[in-house]
Amino acid sequence: MSEDTEIADLSAEAEQSFREKVSDFLEKNCDRVGESEATLEDDPARVAECRNFQQELFSSGLAALSYSKEFGGAGLTKKHQEIFDQIARDWRLPNGPLYISHGMCLPMLDQYGTAKQKNTYMEDCISGKTIWCQLFSEPGAGSDVAGLSTRATKDGDEWVISGQKVWTSGAHYADLGLVVARTDPSLPKHQGLSMFIVDLTDPDVEVRPLRQISGGSGFNEVFFNETRIPLENLLGDLNQGWNLAVSMLMFERVSIGAGSGSLTADRSPVLIELAKDLDKNSDPYIRQILSDLWIREKIRRFIGQRVRDSVAAGRVPGPEGSIAKLNGSLLARLFRDASMQIVGTNGQAWEIEDEDAEKWAVGCLAASGVSIAGGTDEVQRNIIGERVLGLPKEPDPYKGASWDSVPRN
Ligand SMILES: Cc1cc2nc3c(=O)[nH]c(=O)nc-3n(C[C@H](O)[C@H](O)[C@H](O)COP(=O)(O)OP(=O)(O)OC[C@H]3O[C@@H](n4cnc5c(N)ncnc54)[C@H](O)[C@@H]3O)c2cc1C
Repeated sequence: MSEDTEIADLSAEAEQSFREKVSDFLEKNCDRVGESEATLEDDPARVAECRNFQQELFSSGLAALSYSKEFGGAGLTKKHQEIFDQIARDWRLPNGPLYISHGMCLPMLDQYGTAKQKNTYMEDCISGKTIWCQLFSEPGAGSDVAGLSTRATKDGDEWVISGQKVWTSGAHYADLGLVVARTDPSLPKHQGLSMFIVDLTDPDVEVRPLRQISGGSGFNEVFFNETRIPLENLLGDLNQGWNLAVSMLMFERVSIGAGSGSLTADRSPVLIELAKDLDKNSDPYIRQILSDLWIREKIRRFIGQRVRDSVAAGRVPGPEGSIAKLNGSLLARLFRDASMQIVGTNGQAWEIEDEDAEKWAVGCLAASGVSIAGGTDEVQRNIIGERVLGLPKEPDPYKGASWDSVPRN
């Protein structure tokens, strides 16, 4: 990010005028939260709407507020971003398909990209002209992502990538992706990995959408069939991919659990309105679960503030990213249970013409994914156990062994 991005005190007039600019923009371009809740992720109209929205945001000077102007950002401060996020909480920004591009890939390009990579990719990423995805998980490597098998081998002035990824969110509409591949199998599993920028539209990249329980098709299998990319597409240093992957997972966990935009907006007000509409607001059990949800959402704000302050102070978020992510996934399930309690049987069987009813069922079915994406609840608990509580590490009989000497399926 630019050097002028430290939290700065804005004059009262400057702050007021920025607030008005943001509010005017959102009023003109977005629905209020609650007017539209869950939508299926594979809807092509949603992706087109997202690209248009982001282009408008970018043209208005409101995209990537604290990133450097040189690379397409608005060159403002983190304080501007905080103000924007605070106002945006009440609005549904149609930028869901950019969640990985901006929450994870953009900070990685900014932090690890060469000047040439930043010049080539950042502005298009910020303006929504390109959408990015993250390719880590494989059929044999999810929680143990460091054990992955996709290979990248050097051939002249190119890298050749071969292997399969899975659960790749948004690969079916992404233009580019950050892929982690094994560059030296003779090293222990964490040491022989590297990260690359890959063109997802290359004919040697095959993307096959997967159908989910929610009815959507938000993620995919991705096959690299000896895909050739230039040497300069290596992001960061050779065989340092694990450090980059950990950084990126941390951005992801912070985004899921402590992001300050609409992704982590308080949703209890929507349920309180729903309970009123359905005359369930005097039911003591429902009142209790709504109060519980409301309190836990306030706690999430404190956790989120702590993580964001830590990032603003220049620290890399450590296990607090796992605390935020675990808390976010527990909240998603609490919201699911509360919504099902309120809508009752309408959450499972509804009149076909009742367009509003389906969203609760879709939301209910999609909620479990939050406790898996970005590292499962169990994995977050392991990290918290080891790094916060000081419990012993999990035993690893192959610690220090070269990746190619470890038995695998
Ligand atoms: C909605 C969604 C979006 C996703 N998007 C992406 C994406 O864009 N890019 C990408 O690369 N991946 C993505 N993923 C994949 C996700 O990162 C993996 O699913 C996740 O890391 C778990 O890996 P796995 O599915 O292989 O499960 P496994 O690792 O096989 O785990 C199976 C079960 O075993 C438990 N377990 C595993 N190891 C341990 C352990 N050491 N201690 C205790 N319990 C353990 C797990 O908690 C889990 O319950 C996404 C997943 C979801 C649900």
